[in-house]
Amino acid sequence: MSVGDFTALNDAGLNLQAVFDLDELPAEMVAELRRRFAPAHRYRQLILIGHGGRSLWEAVKASGMRSENPIDDFSVRKVEQWFGKQFPDRAREIIYPGNMPADLQALGRIAGWHHASPFMLGINADWGTWFAYRVVLLTATDLEPSRPLQSESPCARCADRICISSCPAGAMDGGSFALDKCIGYRRQASSRCKATCVARVSCPVGSSHRYGDEQMQHAYSISLREIERHS
Ligand code: SF4
Ligand code: SF4
Repeated sequence: MSVGDFTALNDAGLNLQAVFDLDELPAEMVAELRRRFAPAHRYRQLILIGHGGRSLWEAVKASGMRSENPIDDFSVRKVEQWFGKQFPDRAREIIYPGNMPADLQALGRIAGWHHASPFMLGINADWGTWFAYRVVLLTATDLEPSRPLQSESPCARCADRICISSCPAGAMDGGSFALDKCIGYRRQASSRCKATCVARVSCPVGSSHRYGDEQMQHAYSISLREIERHS
């Protein structure tokens, strides 16, 4: 069993990594993975790779990458390069981005990255909500499995819950998240959430990692476009 060298990923802004033994993941999740990915019996581990903060966005911009999904394409390329150098003779299969059956947030919970915030994004004490899942791969590696981040949800100790009162749609006023209110508001011509989430930005946890305007614009204009496409 070896300790992974994730330096190249960290340098590319893919600075969150979690290694799981497949045998230690929930049985239903593993059964689905094995059903969907025929050669999955070759694989012993699943590696979850994410980013926290702004460094990935800066790396994508510096790469000059122009494509419809520049962050996904950059992330996959960097992970392929990293894996090929580290484990040239080991099998691997990238299952996310793509049609992955495993629930990313479920993996995030097991890794200790994800606690549910009132507006349904994951939150943790280190990064606030300023992190995301980028690549998942099945691997025939024998890396030392990661220990989960041990932290309770920052929301459990948050008295102000300013995210709830700052949402201009009142999407959390009823005690749970009303997606229809959020979407309805975002689609309005005068919406303040066309290229951001006011509630998310108001949360003080991990605010030093908050994405810059350009990254927010990129992420939220994509999600608004998807909303319009399906409406
Ligand atoms: S403002 Fe408080 S309740 Fe809202 S996401 Fe941040 S920590 Fe959680
Ligand atoms: S995007 Fe806007 S409307 Fe939706 S939860 Fe965030 S603040 Fe509320």
